[in-house]
Amino acid sequence: MKLIYDDNQDMLIDELVNLGEKKFRATQVFEWIYRKHIYSFDEMTNLSLSLREKLKEHYAIGCFKIVEKQVSKDGTIKYLLQLNDGGFIEAVLMIHDYGRSLCVTSQLGCSMGCKFCASGLLKKQRNLSAGEMVNQILTVMNDTKQAVSHVVVMGTGEPFDNYDQVMNFIRIINHPKGLAIGARHITVSTCGLCDKIRQYAMEGIQTNLAISLHAPNDDLRNQLMPINHRYNLDDLRDALTYYIEKTNRRVTFEYILLKDVNDSLIYARQLAHYIKGLNAYVNLIPYNSVDESGFQKSQNIEAFKSELLRLKVNATLRKEHGSDIDGACGQLRAKKVGDKQ
Ligand code: SAH
Repeated sequence: MKLIYDDNQDMLIDELVNLGEKKFRATQVFEWIYRKHIYSFDEMTNLSLSLREKLKEHYAIGCFKIVEKQVSKDGTIKYLLQLNDGGFIEAVLMIHDYGRSLCVTSQLGCSMGCKFCASGLLKKQRNLSAGEMVNQILTVMNDTKQAVSHVVVMGTGEPFDNYDQVMNFIRIINHPKGLAIGARHITVSTCGLCDKIRQYAMEGIQTNLAISLHAPNDDLRNQLMPINHRYNLDDLRDALTYYIEKTNRRVTFEYILLKDVNDSLIYARQLAHYIKGLNAYVNLIPYNSVDESGFQKSQNIEAFKSELLRLKVNATLRKEHGSDIDGACGQLRAKKVGDKQ
């Protein structure tokens, strides 16, 4: 059954009108869910009993089951959640000084095959629906009794391989009558699906775009990220130039530093060259080790960063969150799921 959270307000209006209801009923349902945080139709007391019954017939509602919750020393919380069809996903809540940020999963598994990433160890089984992404936020907010202020679509999955659902998800959480999370507080991260970057440029929304780059030349990127065979670095640069021109937004390049693979200063110089002329900055990511991958954390992080700064590239080092609970980037994998199947 379809989740009520799959609907943006316009969709819900259409559907309720088709069921013979007045338009404002959709607004009321939205208010119960996104303002009053009510997660059952029975509690929507300003709706008639017959409408509540109709809603129950057509839509599923309610938070996901929290199968497990791990809390890290730094306050990061990793949730293992169970979807209504039984599948397991993870979502990670990070506490920053500027707010509470949720890392949302967009697919069950991932088919991009990046060599260093634990999230992709499980091949894609299916896309998540918009509502399944919305419900990750609702479930965490209900558990912590606090609002989520920022959203990063950086959990398992490639969001641009599930483009329509991810865009609908963004519209629902950004809508003033939805969770009203500001567009500038929402970031989508992609490994570089260039046709979708161009489409994203035309959405007319002020969300952020992050690119998982990880290598500054095609030879190395081909080895690390299979997507580079489809869209190489020139294609990516063209798409980003287009995106920046259309949106006037700055792009973030994510660059995981892998020991003796992409962390020498030669690569810092190539990266500076690649980024030149683009309104972009580099977010350096310390690698979180993934048992199966064979990669190691770089010892050259500070030097790499200094070289970028010397070359006038804006670069920051990403703070690690929850690495003691396998909750950091690329470590999202349902270790526990194995035990439960
Ligand atoms: N598929 C999208 C969304 C996932 S984002 C993308 O590729 O952007 C997850 C981020 O974490 C990406 O930048 C990814 O490259 C990074 N990451 C993956 N594995 C990691 C690891 N072991 N340590 C640190 N970062 C990792």
